Amino acid sequence: MEIVVDRLSIREGIEKRMTDSIETVLKLADGLLVVDVVGGEKISFSQSFSCPDCGINVDEIEPRSFSFNNPFGACPECHGIGYRMEFDEDLIIPDKTLSIAQGAIAAPGWQSVVNPDSYSRAILDAMAEFYGFDLDTPYGEYPEDVHDLIWYGTGGQRVEVHYTGRHGHGVYNIAFEGLLGNLQKRYRETGSETTKQEYESFMQITPCHVCGGKRLKKESLAVTVGDKNIAEISEYSIIDLKKFMDELTLTDRQKQIGRLVLKEIRSRLGFLVDVGLDYLSLARATATLSGGEAQRIRLATQ
Ligand SMILES: [Zn+2]
Ligand SMILES: [Zn+2]
Repeated sequence: MEIVVDRLSIREGIEKRMTDSIETVLKLADGLLVVDVVGGEKISFSQSFSCPDCGINVDEIEPRSFSFNNPFGACPECHGIGYRMEFDEDLIIPDKTLSIAQGAIAAPGWQSVVNPDSYSRAILDAMAEFYGFDLDTPYGEYPEDVHDLIWYGTGGQRVEVHYTGRHGHGVYNIAFEGLLGNLQKRYRETGSETTKQEYESFMQITPCHVCGGKRLKKESLAVTVGDKNIAEISEYSIIDLKKFMDELTLTDRQKQIGRLVLKEIRSRLGFLVDVGLDYLSLARATATLSGGEAQRIRLATQ
């Protein structure tokens, strides 16, 4: 819904009326304003950092928006760590020429599948029965749909599991969550540090799929200076960063806004180059610096 608040032609002396109209609009429309230019295109304005077309809303940009140690700036998926530990199928099924019945699954809790009386075997037997595959096929030879059922689960479809345990024979309707989902659940739920470590030996460290290892939320990564976001700039070596800063072209207004911080950055970069640390990059974790390097950097920050 749109409300027409005023019609104006631009001329000397209408500033007061225009200001009043704009204020009225912003109050009425929650900070959104559209100017319908006669014979031209509509121009949208927003008081907040939001786009009226796609509904994206960005919080006010502050220094903490650019810190992955701060929940305000950190990627919500990996909480600013940048990587995740994920189960790796190649570690869980190390030999894909083996069948499940032969013990293809090496992960904890699943080695018992080789035993025809085990509960884990009963689940996979039920899966095989319901979906029409068998457990004697080498794991690597399953067609993709069967592989996905075993690895990712049935997506909620229940299968009838027949199992004889200590308490007698029972039939259970189970929606198998897949090897991956099952291992993730066990890993999450175990209280034992030793067991956790055992599971972790079947995991790989992979970059966070949301931030790609850049550790910041996407709104922060969308902020650029000279077409580069803070993650890209941090990856430059000091010498390349100095070059980038020297070649940065800014409008007069931008120069004025950034004057102090640019001066500060240039002087610190100059210092790092002078003390011979120009091969480092800002993204390099301080823990990996040699003692001498760390000391020279501490001097530059003082
Ligand atoms: Zn938009
Ligand atoms: Zn992330």
